[in-house]
Amino acid sequence: MSGQISFFKSVENYVDKAAAFTDIPRGLVEQIKACNLVLQIRFPVRIGNDYQVIEAYRVQHSHHRLPTKGGIRYAESVDQDEVMALAALMTYKCALVDVPFGGAKGGIKINPGNYTVEQLQNITRRYTTELIKKNFIGPGIDVPAPDYGTGPREMAWILDTYQAFRHGEIDSIGCVTGKPVTQNGIRGRAEATGRGVFYGLRECMSYADDMAKIGLSKGIAGKTMVVQGLGNVGSNTALISQQEGDVKIIGIAEREGSIFSANGIDVEKLMAFRKETGSIIGFPGTEHIGGPSAALELECDILVPAALENQITLENADRIKAKIIAEAANGPITADADPILQKKGIVILPDFYINAGGVTVSYFEWLKNLSHHRFGRLENRFQHEAFHGILTKVEEMTGKTISDREKDFLTRGGTEVELVNSGLQDTMVVAYQQIRETFKQHPDIRDVRTAAFVCSLKKIASDYVSMGIFP
Ligand code: NAD
Repeated sequence: MSGQISFFKSVENYVDKAAAFTDIPRGLVEQIKACNLVLQIRFPVRIGNDYQVIEAYRVQHSHHRLPTKGGIRYAESVDQDEVMALAALMTYKCALVDVPFGGAKGGIKINPGNYTVEQLQNITRRYTTELIKKNFIGPGIDVPAPDYGTGPREMAWILDTYQAFRHGEIDSIGCVTGKPVTQNGIRGRAEATGRGVFYGLRECMSYADDMAKIGLSKGIAGKTMVVQGLGNVGSNTALISQQEGDVKIIGIAEREGSIFSANGIDVEKLMAFRKETGSIIGFPGTEHIGGPSAALELECDILVPAALENQITLENADRIKAKIIAEAANGPITADADPILQKKGIVILPDFYINAGGVTVSYFEWLKNLSHHRFGRLENRFQHEAFHGILTKVEEMTGKTISDREKDFLTRGGTEVELVNSGLQDTMVVAYQQIRETFKQHPDIRDVRTAAFVCSLKKIASDYVSMGIFP
């Protein structure tokens, strides 16, 4: 909950604010906002010598495109409102980045740290069975993916359970994404959300005029960054920003507390240190500055909350000193804190844009699964030989020689991960350009979140209109 209003209500309020800048009829806005299907499940799982009743959900927010898509979260915070809000954000996210799915989300109300691997496997398989029984999962129905507290391992269990029930279904491997590469996953999916955060930030910071307004020079290189949460999204955002963007990571927060170093923190070494010691505290060259939220208040160019929702609230918003906040987590800023940050002139890159890299590459994985072959497998060698032939002709016509090494480099096709990263980069760049275009069309819009919601709403509304459901 954020202040007095719920997470789902706060998403609805953002949509209403954006809808005022469009001419979408009120009834259609209400239809877009509504959650189409909510499944609330309780099932027993044997834990030790006893049984525990597990609370779980799957919400399909919008059926305007099928299948629906969204991660599954394992966290104690899970409740119906949270899953509904996250499912709604998935609808707007998919529309924004042109991923042709409706939004969905799942959640199991557990702390995975309290269970053995075997117990987690039982819980995951039982949850999947419930989804199958209710027709809430399938490559053309609803396709889960990882989220907070889950990863490729859980996705492999879901696939195996699905295939046990749907033996022989030819596209069954497309029933879930974020799978291990060896289990029909795709290279680049594990780091896709963090990589997308980096691409989105780099694009946003490439506009000198926009950056000048917040007192920054153009470009991401050399800028300072603070990251909260060193899980899948946070660690990849930090690593890729440091290694490929030359960003200086000056602060990191995890459950055990926050650390700071004005000279920069080597993220790869920090992760190895945490693996060994179980904590980020005590990492050489850094200072322990307080609890998990202390790092949020550090002075920096870019702040990346990448843990959970409700981290920047009415209580600490005033003390946030970042120039840009990239909402890598879903809903890290409460609705009442948002206007305070806006007033301070902070640019907020909203969750449903900046963390869209995960669903984008999940879409690529689903396409790979339905086509039953790896991207590039059919055409790479053919293209290589065709391009090689062109270069040989160029040599003949110009009388100049191109070395074999150079020829090989110029003619080779992309590997799977190169193609995935290139598609991801293009997606994040094009979506940001559409958001900027919306700003130009609506000079009254002041914040990126509203502009992004306007983009998504227009696309979803046009789907409903072309279906003939609304005039
Ligand atoms: P994760 O479980 O891999 O990592 C979360 C990390 O946050 C963990 O290391 C945890 O210890 C840490 N954490 C928890 N509470 C904290 C606190 N108060 N302060 C500091 N650290 C804390 O989860 P994830 O998949 O990285 O997801 C993180 C966020 O990103 C979630 O909001 C999720 O919905 C969102 N997201 C994830 C994906 C994805 O592909 N995994 C895609 C889009 C959005």
